[in-house]
Amino acid sequence: MRHTKIIATVGPATNDPSSLDALIAAGVDIIRLNFSHGTQADHARRFHEVREAAKRSGRHVAILQDLSGPKIRTGRLVGGKAIPLRIGDPLVIAIGDEIGGPGRVWTTYGELALRVSAGDRLLLDDGKIELEVTAANATEIRTVVIDGGDLAEHKGINAPHVPLPSDMTEKDLRDLAFGVALGVDMIALSFVQTANDVLRARALMEKPVPIVAKLERPEAIEHLDEILAASDAVMVARGDLGLEIPLERVPRVQKEILKKARLRGVPAIVATQVLESMRVEARPTRAEASDAAGAVDGGADAIMLSAETATGLHPIRSVEVLDAIIRDAESVTAAVPGRPSEHVDHGQALCDAAVSLSERAGAHAIVAVTHAGWTAKLLAALRPRAAILAATNREDIARSLSLWCGVTPMVCDLNGDVEAVISRVIDEAVRVSAAPDNAILVFVNTATDLDRSGGNFVRIRRV
Ligand code: PGA
Ligand code: MN
Repeated sequence: MRHTKIIATVGPATNDPSSLDALIAAGVDIIRLNFSHGTQADHARRFHEVREAAKRSGRHVAILQDLSGPKIRTGRLVGGKAIPLRIGDPLVIAIGDEIGGPGRVWTTYGELALRVSAGDRLLLDDGKIELEVTAANATEIRTVVIDGGDLAEHKGINAPHVPLPSDMTEKDLRDLAFGVALGVDMIALSFVQTANDVLRARALMEKPVPIVAKLERPEAIEHLDEILAASDAVMVARGDLGLEIPLERVPRVQKEILKKARLRGVPAIVATQVLESMRVEARPTRAEASDAAGAVDGGADAIMLSAETATGLHPIRSVEVLDAIIRDAESVTAAVPGRPSEHVDHGQALCDAAVSLSERAGAHAIVAVTHAGWTAKLLAALRPRAAILAATNREDIARSLSLWCGVTPMVCDLNGDVEAVISRVIDEAVRVSAAPDNAILVFVNTATDLDRSGGNFVRIRRV
């Protein structure tokens, strides 16, 4: 079984139920709904289609809602027409919500004009266009084009030195409430700057949903430890990160994030341009294959596809290729185990024991009997070679566990005494993991309540 999970972003290239079936069949564990594009109605329709497709597949596929965050954008253009920008051309970025044209575009983020000064660089449209500020006052920024290109409407502006608005945007507030009510399994926050951004979003939720902090701002790297402590998971969001910090630092920052996340047992996602060339080509570059394998070696819990599956020509094949690259990398990888430090208690010791037992006995799988998922998460942090099967009685917990490295969720009835539960779970575990005759399974449960009977056990069984 593959340990590292695959996240696929859906979009125009994968906009129908049969594409969803194919994505899931190819190995997708989590579907990302990107709220930077599309309406709430589009996403609601996709949400239900993913749930239906998952049901058809018999797998617990999670849905990740990705909020757009406070991304600074250019405004509308006359006739919706892109404007050509050539090296050396002057361009004014004015503050307001008006319609731009040649020589003058608009942005609604007033803070931008107050925070930049002559000599600062601004990156537009994913860095395709670079501007240098020549002068700025409260109402406009004068710039000159350093790298040119055609600038269309509503393109992103990256200004690494300019702090982003500290309040959640109106759109994110609406989308967050919408996603929670819809029942998404996890929510990603874009452009997180401090742990407070995560805590505030959590406080706004009607019911708790795991939060993925997207690390794509210089501030997030500075506050990495506190963000890891506040988040359920993190994403190395290399697209914006590579514009917000010097590109050459991205590999080092990715390594640092993966290492710190792993030591804390916080799942980490590596995202963006993973198989970028497959948007068009049927095969990735060798460099892309190496990068994806490197993410596995570095201890990523999941790898995310964006444009490859949202708008690319080969969405299904991208997943198949990534699946193959991961499997090959995992055939030799032994990531350094983590050890969630704040939970060094009997639960941790029980999981240590289960992993050690599984290794000595050559177990086929470790089965976490877990109500809220905690035992499975502790096991995942230990990075055992054996697959982790998470038996939970809740569908929502099963889906959210699909992000954790090595964890295959299954839903089982967990009522009754330990023996009854194990004998019930065993059948499902054998089926889900295709365990051969005589395979050895290790069962483990950790519970905080030491007084309750029936919890806190490690058992070994031959099937
Ligand atoms: P995005 O985030 O695709 O929502 O921009 C990922 C990234 O920036 O890498
Ligand atoms: Mn981003």
